Amino acid sequence: MKLSGPFKQIVTLNMLPLKGKLDDNDLEIVNDGGILTENGVVLELDNFEVLKQKFPYAEIHLIENEQIALPAFTDAHTHICFGGNRANDFAMRNAGKTYLEIAESGGGIWSSVQHTRTSSEDELVDGILKRVDVLLNQGITTIEIKSGYGLNVDEELKMLRAIKKAQAKTKATLIPTCLSAHLKPRDFEGNSQEYLNYIINEILPKVKSENLADRVDIFIEKSAFHREESKNFLLKAKELGFLITVHADQFTAGSSRIAVEVGAKSADHLEATVDEDIQFLADSDTVAIALPGASLGLGEPFAPARKILNKGGILAIATDWNPGSAPMGNLVTQASILATYQKLSTAEVLAAITFRAAYALGLEDRGILAKGKKADFITYETDNFQNILYHQGSLAPSKVYINGEFI
Ligand SMILES: [Zn+2]
Repeated sequence: MKLSGPFKQIVTLNMLPLKGKLDDNDLEIVNDGGILTENGVVLELDNFEVLKQKFPYAEIHLIENEQIALPAFTDAHTHICFGGNRANDFAMRNAGKTYLEIAESGGGIWSSVQHTRTSSEDELVDGILKRVDVLLNQGITTIEIKSGYGLNVDEELKMLRAIKKAQAKTKATLIPTCLSAHLKPRDFEGNSQEYLNYIINEILPKVKSENLADRVDIFIEKSAFHREESKNFLLKAKELGFLITVHADQFTAGSSRIAVEVGAKSADHLEATVDEDIQFLADSDTVAIALPGASLGLGEPFAPARKILNKGGILAIATDWNPGSAPMGNLVTQASILATYQKLSTAEVLAAITFRAAYALGLEDRGILAKGKKADFITYETDNFQNILYHQGSLAPSKVYINGEFI
């Protein structure tokens, strides 16, 4: 066993409700704390001197300078498996070009599909690992990654195999999600309903038999898939044993309701969610995931995070890191900006990128520092946890620990 400390503060995120608003006074803070770990989990968490006396044989990992500790973060929504780059889309959009003009000049999701299809599996693995390192340096040790730039059997499987290969080369936890229903590909002969049938009949059975993902996502939007066909698709995916998540209400309202109706783990985006649907979502166990990076990338409104919490919903925040609409990939920066505009407490933001985000991925073993939880934690060289959001992402963690080990 190993005892790390003393930490000026340990912000445990323990004993907080899964749902609804939080006040900073609700946070459990252990002053001059120590974290005792063994076999990758937290054995005890208490005052450092108390633990030292109680466990005299523990190996001591002495913390120098003034440091605080908190659970490592989870990014519950990314698209970091991709080829190419869409800097030109970004420049064109900022210069006032429309979605159609960008697509006609060779940009948009379809350009990422073409670049991803021409990338080898190993090139995709390298790209994933490079981006995983960027996220690890921000203290994010659990990362969801979607397919969705392959859009046929071979290419979707290539993406998911690349994510699996990357998992073997990193200590971070990678959670793969099959997003073959990102867009009907231009080269598919048939309508969107036929493409969704193709995913159910041709792609998902192979994803299952190769054990490549146990989550299925869909982009419900006028430009992608309609509500009724999407609902049927999700129910079939559920019958096949997949967990469900939905790209919902990004530009038009109505699809978060479908996410709740099919029992999705999360409804992500929600920039356009209307009040009665916020209540419907808040009354459910479906996590509302705000993606402020997409709002910043597109110049769109933020998700109504304040209202979701006020009505009792579960709020998580994720980066949506992708080559098109959300290229930044900095979770704390985005969460801090969302907090400024939506008036979120520090406790609400920290919960949204720790245990509430992990819950959206079906993981209840992390995001909290307490006995029995996974010992993924991060430290900052500062004397107060409020400094993390105050610096809006420019204060980086001093150290990142996975399973109790410094990486
Ligand atoms: Zn997305």
